[in-house]
Amino acid sequence: AYVVVDNCIKCKYQDCVEVCPVDCFYEGENMLVIHPDECIDCGVCEPECPAEAIKPDSEDDLETWAELNRKYAELW
Ligand code: SF4
Repeated sequence: AYVVVDNCIKCKYQDCVEVCPVDCFYEGENMLVIHPDECIDCGVCEPECPAEAIKPDSEDDLETWAELNRKYAELW
């Protein structure tokens, strides 16, 4: 799955939400999050993010952010 990281905090863009084919973005406390079980790994959102806040969870050191994405996405 793809993961939203700290660059998203207080970002006002919604470009990622508009392009996601499965609508798996949700509102977190002060940023958007991706539901890891709904994301189909298409990668379309990553280049669309003006804040460069979206990364594949295969990157190193994203465990904390991945957990935060899951936590807030599952509240919905
Ligand atoms: Fe949505 Fe694709 Fe981005 Fe996953 S990788 S959040 S499915 S646009």
